[in-house]
Amino acid sequence: MLANESEFRVKVAVRVRPFLQREKNHDQKSCVTIHPQTNQIILGERRTFKYDFVFGPKTQQEELYRTSVEPMLQNVFDGYNVTIFAYGQTGSGKTYTMTGGNILSIGEKDYGIVPRAVKTIFDAIQNRKDRQITISASYLELYKDDIIDLLDVNDKDLDVRDDAAGNTVVIGASEHRCRSVDDVVCLLKKGSNVRHTGATQMNDESSRSHAIFTLYIEQRHHDKNSNANAVQASFDGLLKPLQSTFNESYLSAKLHFVDLAGSERVARTQNTGERFQESIRINSGLLALGNVVSALSDPKKRTGGHIPYRDAKITRLLKDSLGGNAKTLMITCVSPCTADLDESLNALKYAHRAS
Ligand code: ADP
Ligand code: MG
Repeated sequence: MLANESEFRVKVAVRVRPFLQREKNHDQKSCVTIHPQTNQIILGERRTFKYDFVFGPKTQQEELYRTSVEPMLQNVFDGYNVTIFAYGQTGSGKTYTMTGGNILSIGEKDYGIVPRAVKTIFDAIQNRKDRQITISASYLELYKDDIIDLLDVNDKDLDVRDDAAGNTVVIGASEHRCRSVDDVVCLLKKGSNVRHTGATQMNDESSRSHAIFTLYIEQRHHDKNSNANAVQASFDGLLKPLQSTFNESYLSAKLHFVDLAGSERVARTQNTGERFQESIRINSGLLALGNVVSALSDPKKRTGGHIPYRDAKITRLLKDSLGGNAKTLMITCVSPCTADLDESLNALKYAHRAS
């Protein structure tokens, strides 16, 4: 495998959350064993899986962020799009991992990936005085086949298109300029407040939708020579909207954080009617995403083969940020409980296909 190919391979992390109080009260037994040294996880007695990163119930937010997410952020400044997903059944810890549980009330120690990444980015800007960097954000929800703008709840019709340069654009999505970490946390809180949730039998706050928080990082170099550097940074320059004028070069990247809908199967949640329809659509989106990510992990398909982006809205929306010269991390969240073993097995298999 060429160094280049392995560099762009989808990376996969698995995180096992701790027992919740109610699970302890019901004397739930654990069905997972973690081997951090070898990045292996054993489910039940004998099913062993290996991933790029494996995090156990004691792993704090800081450690997960530092080891699996932070190293990806340099890519954003080099002009690569980056996508980080949280996958797993409802209640497995996706939202806790992404934003940090209830973003409306948590303290900094519990901050998830998004606020931490934002802090890293604003800190890094301080060290890049040779260029002008602007950060803006959008926060969208994909519910059934509709895209909802969580930061501008007018009844706008949002649609996904590819522009002439090959960039995926959500027409009509509001983008908000951010000048500090607080600005971003404010947007996260606002969006999380309106996020569509529905009560299922599994979890009252179960999210039946995908939430996509995106940071847009735009860099303008004023130095005449900087254009050469920028070209070098996006060496295969396939999708990069690198433009230059006489004395300014421009580099942009997107950083997506995706809190996916619960991966549980329909039968488990005993949904009927409207909810049942939701589950089917959600699962077809997750299925399509799994197919895309799996195709990307095959070097032959990745370079030149058919990647089935068009099969679902979630994959169309993320098209320019999955594969190509984008970098992807999938964090699969699992419950430690024996009662959840089937769902955990499905989640681990899904993650395995991606790697
Ligand atoms: P999901 O978004 O996958 O439905 P949540 O993130 O809401 O799941 O997690 C379910 C519950 O478990 C929440 O109360 C959350 O605070 C808690 N939780 C999840 N992961 C962890 C963790 N690693 N450490 C402590 N609590 C966690
Ligand atoms: Mg959630």
